[in-house]
Amino acid sequence: MAPPSWIQRGRTIQPGQSLLGLACAESYIVSKTDRKPEMSPVACPSGFEEAERCVQCALCLPHCPTYRLTHDESESPRGRLAMLAAWGGDSAALDPSMRAALDHCLGCLACEVVCPAAVPYGRLIDRYHEVTERPLRTPLVRLLVWLTRRHRVAGALHHLLQGLQETGILSFLRRIAPGGLARVLSLMPDPYPRAGTNLRRMGARNAGTRRVSILMGCVSSLWMPEAYAAAETLLVRWGYAVDLAPHAFCCGALARHAGRVRTAEALRAELRDVLSADQPVLVLDSGCVGETRAALGSDRPGARPVHELAAFLDANWPEAFKATLDRPERVGLHIPCTQRTEVGDAGAPARLLRRIGNLTVQAIPDGYGCCGAAGSYVLREPGMSGALAAPLVGSLGPEPPDRIVTTNIGCRLRWQAELRQAGLEIPVEHPVDILLRACGHPRPATG
Ligand code: SF4
Ligand code: SF4
Repeated sequence: MAPPSWIQRGRTIQPGQSLLGLACAESYIVSKTDRKPEMSPVACPSGFEEAERCVQCALCLPHCPTYRLTHDESESPRGRLAMLAAWGGDSAALDPSMRAALDHCLGCLACEVVCPAAVPYGRLIDRYHEVTERPLRTPLVRLLVWLTRRHRVAGALHHLLQGLQETGILSFLRRIAPGGLARVLSLMPDPYPRAGTNLRRMGARNAGTRRVSILMGCVSSLWMPEAYAAAETLLVRWGYAVDLAPHAFCCGALARHAGRVRTAEALRAELRDVLSADQPVLVLDSGCVGETRAALGSDRPGARPVHELAAFLDANWPEAFKATLDRPERVGLHIPCTQRTEVGDAGAPARLLRRIGNLTVQAIPDGYGCCGAAGSYVLREPGMSGALAAPLVGSLGPEPPDRIVTTNIGCRLRWQAELRQAGLEIPVEHPVDILLRACGHPRPATG
């Protein structure tokens, strides 16, 4: 394949010469190819041809969190696409600087949704991860991906952590753990959920005539069980028959973004089996929506719809239903990047929350556009992830809200860790937790 015509070895263009067009990306590639590169894991790999569809218009740059943070073209979608096109076209080898820039990509797809040339950026960065297996260089990411297909082992680990919490060992470990382990422990919920969900299994709540399935996300159902219990309670109250997947299932996003395509495909197949009934599927975690839709072929006519829960509750709010909190509260609403990109409805959580009486909703500024959690990214790119999270607490302003609400488990854990570190005791919840409380329900038992 011929390399893109604008990538010519030896051509000198100063970085920052122009934002429109290709100057920065080009100079980046040129400067890197003039150095002696390390051997790339795969020379001239296939599967990056679509990177050449980029017309270098720069429309995606202001939407890219890593570009907003660094103002460095190599940390932008356009720069990364130039690298992939050059590498795939055999006009540049993958050197350490290029690898670092590509590794820093969050996979948030903020670029893909605004691209006028419809460059399939997500597919390309997944292909990069598949070819290089770079995410798997982090042992914890390998472990997480391994666990996605071993529900029993994950469940046993969950019980072990619960035991460590109840005996005080987990709190002790949080205080004394060194470096990487401290970082991992700081991201876990604190206190650790005492027990798993006590939700009824498939078909057990058949009171209603309209049926829905709830996807039990692998991490979210273990670490925010009260949200699943709240969703089930509310939906039954609204007259739905609620089917829950028989045990926590991974949609495959973790594996796919780590480059383990076969694992991701196997998880998609499992998902199709377990969600085989002909009824809508509700997903509580915005980060699982895209992969679940892809698994069920929801972009095809006639396929069963996959809804993010807040969007579904807002669209199906019963006409006469009222929800009001006992006393006035103010919530800070954090919109995850996946709510914008995968769900495609950034306004849904706000619309839902504004239906609740006595509740003031305050939008939290989006900082760099991503909190830096991004699935396993927080584990494999701690430096960039930490820099992206830095504005979070400050963005609450001088009068922080009573609680923070978000629809993504990764964002929730990130917020909890940042608030803890700042010494602020502000609960972080899913919108459905507040909605159920506003209906006069006590917090559902999850033990
Ligand atoms: S918006 Fe699309 S075409 Fe324009 S620079 Fe970004 S990736 Fe390329
Ligand atoms: S996926 Fe996100 S981080 Fe990666 S290039 Fe696109 S906008 Fe930037």
